[in-house]
Amino acid sequence: MAWLCARTVFQTCRRRISIGSLACSQKKEFADPLDHATGLEKREMLAYLAGIDDPYNLAIKRRAVSTKEDPNIVYSAFESRIMGCICDEDSLHINWMWLHQGPPRRCECGHWFKLVEKAPV
Ligand SMILES: [Zn+2]
Repeated sequence: MAWLCARTVFQTCRRRISIGSLACSQKKEFADPLDHATGLEKREMLAYLAGIDDPYNLAIKRRAVSTKEDPNIVYSAFESRIMGCICDEDSLHINWMWLHQGPPRRCECGHWFKLVEKAPV
């Protein structure tokens, strides 16, 4: 009985293992994050790949000269959105206000803003 165990151990030790050569031949790299992403994260990644740098319209935009008939356009995927207007170039505060879908709204500085619906990311 003891001899059988020793023989088994001996045969196991003689066995050639070529796992190392297999592992070296395979190219190891991290998976593409796009393959692992789901839901909103994946849609954001696809938007960036499509060239949309600001999918949520969070970038600061310069105001144009605006009137009630030709207001500055603010995009949102919702019925309302908070926006900030830096009324004076040297101002140290931001004038925050709600914009709702419908007629344009006038800021205290005289500029007009209108909320326009945009499809969500
Ligand atoms: Zn303003």
